[in-house]
Amino acid sequence: MDFFNLDKILSGQPKYRRGQVWRWIFVGLIDDWDLASDLSKELKELLNEKLPLKIDYQLVADRRSSKAVIRLFDGEVIESVLIENKDGRHTVCVSSQVGCPLGCAFCATGKGGFKRNLSAAEIIIQVLIFARLLKPDGGRVDNIVFMGMGEPFLNWDNVKKSIEIFNDPQGLNIGARSISISTCGLLEGIEALIKFPLQVNLAISLHSASDDLRSRLMPIANTVSLRELMKAVKKYLLVKKRKVMFEYVMMEGINDDPAQAVELIELIKNLGAGPVMVNLLTYNPTGKFKPSSPESIKRFKKILVEGGIEAIIRESVGGKILGACGQLAGKKSN
Ligand code: SAH
Ligand code: SF4
Repeated sequence: MDFFNLDKILSGQPKYRRGQVWRWIFVGLIDDWDLASDLSKELKELLNEKLPLKIDYQLVADRRSSKAVIRLFDGEVIESVLIENKDGRHTVCVSSQVGCPLGCAFCATGKGGFKRNLSAAEIIIQVLIFARLLKPDGGRVDNIVFMGMGEPFLNWDNVKKSIEIFNDPQGLNIGARSISISTCGLLEGIEALIKFPLQVNLAISLHSASDDLRSRLMPIANTVSLRELMKAVKKYLLVKKRKVMFEYVMMEGINDDPAQAVELIELIKNLGAGPVMVNLLTYNPTGKFKPSSPESIKRFKKILVEGGIEAIIRESVGGKILGACGQLAGKKSN
């Protein structure tokens, strides 16, 4: 679905057509041009040929989440997840790449290797699928998190384009503050986000406050030290004045010891800027690691909070449908 070709497809048409067609895609949320009641038969035919709206996907659902398994034009498969929050708001967790080249030891996507970047349109259709599904019941996509397959900052140009379209008031109209990017800590990506005018949220996958352990878990830490990462985060905090979230996936016997919580407090205190918060995530066992017990997660949180650090525990949703946000990967690569 090449939305970016719309001007070419509509060349020779009156100017207002573009807005009309755009609204059918992103506000009308139709999946067939025949439903666009105010367009001529000829234009509907042209659009059905040049910009077909059907998306090839299958849905797997459990109680509070659904996973869309999407087949792309070249046969590659990606996944996105819709999560219904307790307050009824809807979050879509999108993928930015087919696979991921960064190979974190605990991540199913990383294990499956890297195929290619997604185009902006391939990122956008992930949200369109769920926006269309929610519309008949009066629901909408409220939040978007780039926490699916892939590292968004390795595909920043397309991620940026997709965010601009998500945010478009004439389209899906999702506030920048309701869009979050999660990164394993690419410095050039954080720099790019500092320069990006939209106020999207930044989440940093930390998982350890020690360079040594971090580089065993995440190969990127061999090139980017915590000192450099924290320097970039500090700059972001000072320039953007937006809260940064540190993600910390809790793995038993790996990073859940009380001493490691103290280490994390030190790291954050040394940052010398804020506001930040820590999001303690339940590990979805996809490889050799085990999730920390609820007791050790609670103990870890308590130490952080008593140390003056804001922290929350986030259950990983969608585990049952093999699509927990943050570890999306085709079943075949497990
Ligand atoms: N590449 C980016 C964004 C995608 S991963 C990043 O690494 O931040 C989104 C989040 O899911 C990251 O915090 C990642 O560490 C986490 N994650 C990966 N595998 C997971 C698993 N098996 N269980 C829970 N979270 C996981
Ligand atoms: Fe890539 Fe993120 Fe998975 Fe690491 S955790 S392999 S950076 S998707």
